Amino acid sequence: MFGSKRLRHLDRTIDVASEIWNHSVALHRRYYRLFKKTLPKSRLQAHLAKLRRTRFPHWKSVGSQSVQAITERLYLGWEAFFKGDIKRPPTFRKRRKYRSFTLKQSGYKLLGYGRIKVLGRNYRFNQSRPIIGIVKTVTVRRDPIKDFYITFSCDGVPSTEQAPKTGLTAGADFGLKDFLTLSTGEKIAAPQPLKAELRHLRKAQRVLSRKQKGSNSRKRARLDVARVHSKVANIRNDWQWKQARMLLTIFDLLVFETLNLKAMQQLWGRKVGDLGFADFLTKAGWMAKKLGRDLVKIDRWEPTTTPCHLCGHRQHMPLNMRTFVCDGCGNVECRDVNAAHNILEAGRRLRPGDTSKTSQEASVVVTAESHAL
Ligand SMILES: [Zn+2]
Repeated sequence: MFGSKRLRHLDRTIDVASEIWNHSVALHRRYYRLFKKTLPKSRLQAHLAKLRRTRFPHWKSVGSQSVQAITERLYLGWEAFFKGDIKRPPTFRKRRKYRSFTLKQSGYKLLGYGRIKVLGRNYRFNQSRPIIGIVKTVTVRRDPIKDFYITFSCDGVPSTEQAPKTGLTAGADFGLKDFLTLSTGEKIAAPQPLKAELRHLRKAQRVLSRKQKGSNSRKRARLDVARVHSKVANIRNDWQWKQARMLLTIFDLLVFETLNLKAMQQLWGRKVGDLGFADFLTKAGWMAKKLGRDLVKIDRWEPTTTPCHLCGHRQHMPLNMRTFVCDGCGNVECRDVNAAHNILEAGRRLRPGDTSKTSQEASVVVTAESHAL
């Protein structure tokens, strides 16, 4: 979104939203301490409305519906906490870390492509795609470097754009050198610009760590880190969406191994986090739904590196052994491609109905037979 002066207004509004959030958390805690039960939502909302009229008139800059949205988010958090879905209940948040406010039916008005009125002021924004369906909520978000984003969530959006069936399937193995290795033999490397930015990020983080707490230069360094961070995140997200769309357009069935990220981190170090495998899986899952594809995740305890995918013979595969040379049938194959085949097979076992084979797999089967002869 553009217009620095007006953006300051949004910035302040988000600050106020964080104040309301924190005030609500405090009220909720006090109520619990006194009465040993949860503060009913309607009472909290009524109380906040009163505070808005009397003690904190500046809260009015956040529309009444946004206040409601804040409390609703809080109660969702508490609910999830009591159900055991999340580890910690919603808690106080630093103003700096508070990112957004949400408007429901009122407080905004669409003024045509890339233009919107929010809380009485007009804004222009880069609209990435047409808004389809009925707008249910509008969320204004700021990132640490004070860039502002606007997100619409809509009802009545056609949920899938079913891609035509291709009859192709693949297993995919995550790796450090190649982000993904497919059972078809293709390898997808992490994008180069990402590597360069990650180097920048490390440097900025080192600089930050040397700055004195509370100093102005530390503040600047923190902003630097945040800037590179958001650049890295943007490049990665963009790239991951593209890959996910491409893969799920090509393959009807795609099988991944669910990752034991902790173990991988121990094995490979911090780079694992940089690559964002888990984020990619989330995106791929979303894309599969959208395109009407099957995405199967197999158990991480399923052995995928040690057995030969052709004859099932198992052998020890130390990490530095990049080629799988089967002692059973003589199959010679890239370690990761063999693993990807095993991943695909494991996925198929979970989908007994699916027997289609990729053309490349079929050719591999022929070579196997010639081995046997
Ligand atoms: Zn073999």
